[in-house]
Amino acid sequence: GAAPSGRSAALRARMEERLLAARFRYINQQLYTSTSREAAQLFQTDPEAFEIYHRGFAQQVGRWPENPVHRIIRYLRRRPASLVVADFGCGDCKIASSVRNKVHSFDLVPLSPLVTVCDMAKVPLVDESVDIAVFCLALMGTNLQEILEEANRVLKQGGTLMVAEVASRFEDIRAFVNAMAQLGFKSVSK
Ligand code: SAH
Repeated sequence: GAAPSGRSAALRARMEERLLAARFRYINQQLYTSTSREAAQLFQTDPEAFEIYHRGFAQQVGRWPENPVHRIIRYLRRRPASLVVADFGCGDCKIASSVRNKVHSFDLVPLSPLVTVCDMAKVPLVDESVDIAVFCLALMGTNLQEILEEANRVLKQGGTLMVAEVASRFEDIRAFVNAMAQLGFKSVSK
């Protein structure tokens, strides 16, 4: 039997939203369990995956009480605009489009013309050229150490690394902070 069209349209929209959320979770899980090179390959061979990932990402973050990228933007606005920023896994470049600083925005696929397309394990910046490196919900990839060493390489001595990540992603935050110390990052605030 035909349901009233308003009701079936609403049902269809709800089903589509759930399907999108499921596909997002699946791709997200792939990104967290493969190397950054495999992630690059995934998005190159399947551009639809990237599109789904980003729609799902925006949907999920939209439900949170606070989007961490806004907190990072507020922090940057309180600091001198002369500081150079590198945004690893920049997505749609919310940081670059919200602050006056020079921001290098890196991602696998250009969601915005501000993006420099590259694997964040190997960014086209010279050593010690950045004051603040940001990983906002982007510290993914099983080659984390390589990625963080890359951030360390481009950061100036005494520069700042900012990481925002979902708490459930950490098995042991203390172990993470200790591992970061071994890579040369002193914990300033958590
Ligand atoms: N930082 C943005 C987007 C977070 S979503 C924000 O907070 O709004 C995570 C982003 O990391 C995605 O855009 C994804 O494409 C990117 N990403 C994942 N692996 C990457 C890699 N190896 N190199 C560059 N970007 C990567």
